[in-house]
Amino acid sequence: MLGLRCSSCGEWHESTIRYQCEACGNSLMAEYDYNRIFRKFSFENAGMASGIWRFKPLLPVGPNVAPVTLGEGSTPLLRANRLESALSLANVFLKNETVNPTLSFKDRALSVALTVAGQLGAEAVVTASTGNTGVSAAAYAAKSGLPCTLFVPKSTPRAKLYAMKRYGASLHQVDGTFSDAYLLAKEVAERKRWFNLTSTFLNPFAVEGHKTLAYELVEQMKEVPDWVIIPIGAGPLLVSVYRGFLELRLAGRINTIPRLVGVQAAGCAPIARAFAQDKTEVEPWEAPETMLSAIADPLSSYPADGSRTLKVIRESGGQVVAAPDEAVLGDQEWLTRQEGLYVENASASTLTALKILLKQRVVRESDSVVLVLTGHGTKETE
Ligand SMILES: *Cc1c(COP(=O)(O)O)cnc(C)c1O
Ligand SMILES: [Zn+2]
Repeated sequence: MLGLRCSSCGEWHESTIRYQCEACGNSLMAEYDYNRIFRKFSFENAGMASGIWRFKPLLPVGPNVAPVTLGEGSTPLLRANRLESALSLANVFLKNETVNPTLSFKDRALSVALTVAGQLGAEAVVTASTGNTGVSAAAYAAKSGLPCTLFVPKSTPRAKLYAMKRYGASLHQVDGTFSDAYLLAKEVAERKRWFNLTSTFLNPFAVEGHKTLAYELVEQMKEVPDWVIIPIGAGPLLVSVYRGFLELRLAGRINTIPRLVGVQAAGCAPIARAFAQDKTEVEPWEAPETMLSAIADPLSSYPADGSRTLKVIRESGGQVVAAPDEAVLGDQEWLTRQEGLYVENASASTLTALKILLKQRVVRESDSVVLVLTGHGTKETE
């Protein structure tokens, strides 16, 4: 890794604990010397071992650093044959992220985050979370031996709160939305100089872990799908998956990039609203009202993160869909009973979005489509 660069103005920064561009205040991203990396590393020979660390040269850690790992990544890609029959579709695949060590894709990021925390000499970690980041942070902090403090909205599902405590994290339930928890975590991180792992674009190292999902998809499909459908809060998973596809193209492994679809809850859809109104700047959502807790992010104090996600979606030729709760709950039940996959409501929104885009004739019956099933339903029982 070369260093950190501003996602907006391009200013370079040294690779230390930092979260924003000093010049313009926007989010940072890790930069690599790709020419050097691809001289030695190729996606075709990423090694026989499993997991995200097969791709270590493309992750923001030094070559001699031992990863903090629980066996994340290398998740199955399943053919959705029951879904194909039901909707008369030809090529639908389910990327099953529910089998990660703490049952969501967040493990890809938190494995990287806790590895970097050790590398940079952090004494403790802190994060705001809608649930899954907190559970994952608590697990990887336990594995690394660093103390972990979590800020979550009061509405966080009980099973997630329980898991955070079992892993030994110090837990603070905030009377407010995710955005309120975000500000508290940020304040504590600055005051105590703890490493902030919050899974927006705040931590430029953590998000890099999500790129590995794109690498795996291309390996598993042996081609590039037409569409990848991803539930989004602020959107770091989607943005990082896009970056993974760009890197695959840069390495000559693929020629095209899929169209990316971001799905939001209709009752908390700041990015979908800006997309529908042809705007480039996302504005915060005033009063979130949704049961899809994992993606209920009104972006209250960092709407620029939403604008960054929106830009990437447009660049890919994609779409942003607002999925109504009632439809999503029905699709969650359908996936459980027909495909045998018990996923979170937020994850089932990908199926709702697919149906909406089929109806709009945006997605065609013959297109190849991947639904990213981001989290397991067992942590969301109420
Ligand atoms: C975090 C999360 C998302 C949204 O991801 P972002 O990239 O943070 O916007 C989607 N689904 C589940 C289950 C999640 O936990
Ligand atoms: Zn900048």
